[in-house]
Amino acid sequence: AALEGFDADEVESEIAAAGHGPLPVLAVVGRPNVGKSTLVNRIIGRREAVVEDKPGVTRDRVTYEAEWAGRRFKVVDTGGWEQDVLGIDASVAAQAEFAIEAADAVVFVVDSSVGATDTDEAVVKLLRRAGKPVVLCANKVDGPSAEADAAMLWSLGLGEPHPVSALHGRGTGDMLDAVLEALPDAPAQTFGNAIGGPRRIALVGRPNVGKSSLLNRLAGEERVVVNELAGTTRDPVDELIELGGKTWKFVDTAGIRRRVHLQEGADYYASLRTAAAVEKAEVAVVLIDAAESISVQDQRIITMVVEAGRALVLAINKWDTLDEERRFYLERELETELGQIAWAPRVNVSARTGRHMEKLVPAIETALAGWETRVPTGRLNAFLGELVAAHPHPIRGGKQPRILFGTQAGTKPPRFVLFASGFLEAGYRRFVERRLREEFGFEGTPIHISVRVRE
Ligand code: GDP
Ligand code: GDP
Repeated sequence: AALEGFDADEVESEIAAAGHGPLPVLAVVGRPNVGKSTLVNRIIGRREAVVEDKPGVTRDRVTYEAEWAGRRFKVVDTGGWEQDVLGIDASVAAQAEFAIEAADAVVFVVDSSVGATDTDEAVVKLLRRAGKPVVLCANKVDGPSAEADAAMLWSLGLGEPHPVSALHGRGTGDMLDAVLEALPDAPAQTFGNAIGGPRRIALVGRPNVGKSSLLNRLAGEERVVVNELAGTTRDPVDELIELGGKTWKFVDTAGIRRRVHLQEGADYYASLRTAAAVEKAEVAVVLIDAAESISVQDQRIITMVVEAGRALVLAINKWDTLDEERRFYLERELETELGQIAWAPRVNVSARTGRHMEKLVPAIETALAGWETRVPTGRLNAFLGELVAAHPHPIRGGKQPRILFGTQAGTKPPRFVLFASGFLEAGYRRFVERRLREEFGFEGTPIHISVRVRE
């Protein structure tokens, strides 16, 4: 009765859709200019990924959510790549390596008007080693006369080339059907957890913030850096470290340890690598440099974690460098710049002196607990009922929208669906989120709230 005006099946499917777990990840790889960004735009159905991106320009995001035939997945775009950083082969191999690492399936884009080049062959080798499902996209097949070019790409040994014109949309539907067949329902990374494997942590933060120092400190020894040259080896990049009596998996540590500092394009490398690590992790420890102002780059990394829906811990590193004055300003900065993630547990550490290392694990455990919290529907609605009675939505145009019913559709992170009798203003939605957090905790986790309005 509370849900009068809503169709029962619709309610069920809304809840199911909102409750989806982590989405499978599709990487789009290939040489520069083969049309990766154009294809990504096609797949996500909007022009968010910027084709005109100039090389070296830092991009805010490299992953996008997409949907095809009712299935949702994430797309990692490796376009916008600076090609002269390491020489073309190495750079293509490196960006492909990062993306493939995090992916559940790969679309390999080849320019069929050019045909398979040596660089394409190099990427094929990488793909073989990675063992992920591959869909071969023969791009720039703008018309029937170009189909023969596509057929030439059988020679790559990756199976059927799918003739596509990313620019005009030709053939993309058939290709996406093949993608859906290749993609698992849930990301492979989540399977490990089902059988109680170690929790996965990503250590992220801008260059020089102290990631490798912290990792060494936690691992208790200086390690030899492997994987010196991008694309030359693909050693396991996850590292098991015992902390607080438990084993934790630190993902993508080769990237942290890699000391090859690329000049141009380094930002793009860094953001791609961060995205890959965050995708693979359950919880991200974001390092912030106490000695420096909080930067746009810090904000971007945090946004990446929140948008990926991972648990979040803030580690303010280099605490040993602080004097009274800097400390005062740092606190103010944290409050103003990072106010939107006031829910994240914070530890003030020094990788150099070892200060507060023992506080890291409890903070991580708190964040993971928040991330997995499930609120029973009865309790949630008792809470919502009181909330609505005490703080009704402001009247707009003579009407007063009401929250009728809510349910938690999923965890990791917590996802809620609220059913309402009318449109809820952003301010009210934020208020509801704040009160939900006060009531149920959710420390260290983003929460998603979607609102469905009765027609
Ligand atoms: P990326 O470097 O692999 O991301 O490639 P872009 O998506 O930036 O595309 C490189 C160039 O190829 C751009 O000028 C695109 O307009 C063009 N392009 C992409 N897809 C197609 C296609 O299907 N047909 C034709 N004719 N041109 C395309
Ligand atoms: P990464 O690029 O994030 O892996 O950063 P590194 O671990 O390479 O550290 C960058 C620099 O910061 C190095 O010179 C470190 O010695 C220094 N550093 C790292 N952690 C601390 C810290 O807690 N205190 C101080 N004073 N310096 C640190």
